[in-house]
Amino acid sequence: MEINRRQAIASAAAASAYASAVTEQLLAEETPEFKLNYILASCMYGYQNVWEIIPEIARTGATAIDLWPRIHGSQREQLEEIGEQTFTSVIKRWGVQLGCITQYKLGPFALQDEMRLAKRLGCKTIVTGARGPRGLTGQDLKNGIADFIEKMKPHLEIAEETGVTIAIENHANNLMESYDSLKWFHELTPSKNLQIALAPYHLEQDAERMADLIRQIGPSIAMFYAWQHGKGALESISLEDQRLQMPGRGELDFTPIVSALKEIRYQGWTEIFMHPGKRGTPIEDSVQGVTYEINRSRDYLARCLKESSESVPQKITSSGDKAKMNEGDESRQSIVKGEFNQLNPREAYVILNQGTEPPGPGGYTMTKDPGTYICRQCNAALYRSDDKFESHCGWPSFDDEIEDAVTRRPDPDGLRVEIICSNCNGHLGHVFQGAGFTQKNTRHCVNSISMRFIKKGDPVPPMIIKVKK
Ligand SMILES: [Zn+2]
Repeated sequence: MEINRRQAIASAAAASAYASAVTEQLLAEETPEFKLNYILASCMYGYQNVWEIIPEIARTGATAIDLWPRIHGSQREQLEEIGEQTFTSVIKRWGVQLGCITQYKLGPFALQDEMRLAKRLGCKTIVTGARGPRGLTGQDLKNGIADFIEKMKPHLEIAEETGVTIAIENHANNLMESYDSLKWFHELTPSKNLQIALAPYHLEQDAERMADLIRQIGPSIAMFYAWQHGKGALESISLEDQRLQMPGRGELDFTPIVSALKEIRYQGWTEIFMHPGKRGTPIEDSVQGVTYEINRSRDYLARCLKESSESVPQKITSSGDKAKMNEGDESRQSIVKGEFNQLNPREAYVILNQGTEPPGPGGYTMTKDPGTYICRQCNAALYRSDDKFESHCGWPSFDDEIEDAVTRRPDPDGLRVEIICSNCNGHLGHVFQGAGFTQKNTRHCVNSISMRFIKKGDPVPPMIIKVKK
């Protein structure tokens, strides 16, 4: 007995020492960096073919697409023509997902079939609008919201069964119009399958008030539109003025807003958004132009997020981090619109025709200098010298790319994965998994001729975006 008790005490002490060691270790580990989960709204490209839009998902830092129907887009209708199976297989091949279907037309009470379709396609969110009297305030508003939610209950059964969340967007001239309506909705919603699609565009343009709202209703937000009112979405105003809806273009300061999203560790979708005055038209005149505009807003939101981190006093930045941020931050590469760099016949053979350079020690295969590898055709920063390693395969090899710079697609040979420049689609080479060369277990095998090396300290030329004239 005595021994057992001693053993028990000793073991308890050991357990408690172990527990505190674990706690210390957990505290020492930094909380993972907060990121917005971007989803791409198909209607930003107007009625463009959905095949042309899917490759843009990764290029806009998104992992999913939101299919919009007419009149804003036509991609939901295109899905009918393509067929569910083909659509699913293509979206999978691009490594992205169908994240949302927007269905105002059907309204909240007619989503049964749409929810079942969403389930078949692995889509977990449908956005629609509320139904009920407009212009309510105070207790009437609360009752109005409660009525609406009551009417939603039979539909929520299907939502739960299909694993779909119905996200109700706040909208002008609607039951769900005001800050208060969103608060009541959050308080009254009985199910995690009935949530909010938050549209700052339709709210009074007050960033601090929006931030407070986000802190209050955070757990009920399934979709956040990075979208401000600007001057509205009227056909009568210039395109320039219409674009003031985009984050970073109009006057709304998104810093408090993304800061609140970060505080609540928001996990829902973020959709960079605007409505062009003429519904159904793209927000820019080419696919690349639309992507450029979205990325411009995404850069702005990243800066807002960075500012919000810097204003949080407990955040400790080690001097090492700072040094890394100042030198060669490729995400800050400037951008110009224009024509791509001219290619000589050898370059064109590889970059435009998926050719392959002969292997060997030439080109950049043996280059070890610190610096950045950019795209020969469009100057986009592709790889850092830090990620380059010696693979002895005869081509320059990297185990990582600069974020979003490189797009993967199935090679026509049906076996390999081709890598192309995300900006200009120029052929780079192939990527292989699992050869075990480095810890990341990834090898980008890149043709030297597809790249240009910029030594550390030398200026990186701006990335060229081709925009249709
Ligand atoms: Zn390029």
